[in-house]
Amino acid sequence: MKIIGLTGGIGSGKSTVAGMLADAGYPVVDADRLARDVVEPGQPALAELAAAFGDDVLDDTGALRRGVLASRAFVDKQHTELLNSITHPRIQELRRRRFAEAEAAGAEAVIYDMPLLVEQGADRECDLVVVVDVEVEERVRRLVEHRGLAAADVRRRIAQQSDDETRRAAADVIIDNNGAVSALDAQVQDLVARIQGL
Ligand code: ADP
Repeated sequence: MKIIGLTGGIGSGKSTVAGMLADAGYPVVDADRLARDVVEPGQPALAELAAAFGDDVLDDTGALRRGVLASRAFVDKQHTELLNSITHPRIQELRRRRFAEAEAAGAEAVIYDMPLLVEQGADRECDLVVVVDVEVEERVRRLVEHRGLAAADVRRRIAQQSDDETRRAAADVIIDNNGAVSALDAQVQDLVARIQGL
């Protein structure tokens, strides 16, 4: 089974393209979703997070208080690394399990929708790297308009990601999403043909 890495900056349209690939019949593994799943109530990572960052990162029901954790984990590099050392191995394990499930179901390719694919070097494990590309100002405009985010918040998050040049350099395929959503159809069709030819 081939692994197709799908990435792009926040607001570039990854989820939109992932949805189209799902419609074309490909299983999609969403990295953001994996990161949420490993800290669902009852997951082993939660006890480790409580031990590392304090019991009050969990509420009375045992659910993660994300804001409290963030206020302790994102204070410096050392604490951020501590957080990552707890969650990352579990995220990798769950990703491998989701890939194995897709393969067992007979998929010829799985789409790995991963915002930080290039930043974390996971692009090297992919058979094809697809970058959804949109100019920064248009991404800010879409996220403010469609998702109601504050422009300053969007710009701060964009600044934490790879710049577009670095991301494009890692791409095997670039999907240009500067135009209308309808302009994605032909590009996704070409991508499907490319995946089938792998
Ligand atoms: P990502 O998953 O990369 O953050 P999304 O697919 O959620 O991006 O797209 C960000 C927002 O922009 C969504 O509200 C989406 O509906 C909208 N969007 C995506 N592509 C286009 C487009 N070509 N034109 C206008 N809006 C778009």
